[in-house]
Amino acid sequence: MTGDTEPYWDACRRGELVVQACPACGRRVHPPAAECPHCGSAGLSFAPVSGDAVVHTFTVVHRSFVPEFQGREPYVLAWVDLPEGVRAFGQVVDCAIERVRVGMPVRVTFDQDDLPQWRPA
Ligand SMILES: [Zn+2]
Repeated sequence: MTGDTEPYWDACRRGELVVQACPACGRRVHPPAAECPHCGSAGLSFAPVSGDAVVHTFTVVHRSFVPEFQGREPYVLAWVDLPEGVRAFGQVVDCAIERVRVGMPVRVTFDQDDLPQWRPA
């Protein structure tokens, strides 16, 4: 993690999801970056988002190679689309695996750790 992402993780620890906004072109940027990938401007600022999202795609992990996640299988990892125009990544929780589907409305939660997770909305 670099200094650029510190406000993001601070917000996660407060239970708040923030996304960068570009002061030059106005577009939202996520995951956190030092420069706007759309126009190259620096000085991106963080702003809270609604926490709503829709599942774009997902995968069911049956065998994790990440030590922290071993023993939690099976679990679902998803890319979710935020109405603010960015895509975020995270585990889908509080939902039977067979019920997860593309297009499912979800909402951010930070119940289990500092990583954003997504539960059915
Ligand atoms: Zn920009």
